[in-house]
Amino acid sequence: MKRLFLLASLGLFLCGFPSDLIAWGTTGHRVITEIAQRNLNKKAKKQVDKLFDKQHLAYWANWADFIKSDTLNTWKHTSIWHYVNMPANMERNNFNAFIKDIEKDNVYSEIPKLLTILKDKNNRKEDRKIALIFLIHLVGDMHQPMHTGRADDLGGNRIKVYWFDRETNLHSLWDSALVDFEKYSYTEYATVLNVLTKDEKKAIQKGTLEDWLYDSHNIANRVYEISPYGSRLSYDYNFIVRPIVDSQLQKAGLRLAKILNDLW
Ligand SMILES: [Zn+2]
Repeated sequence: MKRLFLLASLGLFLCGFPSDLIAWGTTGHRVITEIAQRNLNKKAKKQVDKLFDKQHLAYWANWADFIKSDTLNTWKHTSIWHYVNMPANMERNNFNAFIKDIEKDNVYSEIPKLLTILKDKNNRKEDRKIALIFLIHLVGDMHQPMHTGRADDLGGNRIKVYWFDRETNLHSLWDSALVDFEKYSYTEYATVLNVLTKDEKKAIQKGTLEDWLYDSHNIANRVYEISPYGSRLSYDYNFIVRPIVDSQLQKAGLRLAKILNDLW
């Protein structure tokens, strides 16, 4: 009986764990880095092996989220690196100027800085390793549409929705509930997604960081439109957005591979 009670309390504790502020959940980030890993060229693979002492990218994929729980606050300044807020329905013409002008650190401002640290082999290995850890995570985050969401609702965190009658919010739904709904392991998910032809991959890998962010912005607009506050979402929502979730995971993985292949 006592054991049953303990198990029940643990269950309650786990259910109540605040996953809302975490980015693409652990599965999403691992899928993305696993797709990237499988699309690295030889040179990039060698560099990653060196910096990560042969650990795969997936092993470090979620570290940038885990450290948000560090009570010493060593990494507190990095918590705003995971997203960039923007107003609704921006025009492509004004977009580059808009994101370049944002004063606070954000996912867009940080990625080039991390690349600069990584590129310079005179930097300490430890610093380059940390830069790589953040890079592989942030490229993932910028493809989670709610990480390019609106400031007033905290990227969907304030938009209450119900997922199969369970109360959650739009940000959390896109971080993890939708990814985990498929019940794939991260390697299975990477395998079913990593089936594109060379040309299809090239098409996804084309473009600039700004193009990719604008793409996420457009998807965010659509997500806001189809999931207003209080929505009760289940199978039919999953049916509509599944191709979007899959394609964002795929894009993030392939573009991360492209960034690393070009870097080295
Ligand atoms: Zn994150």
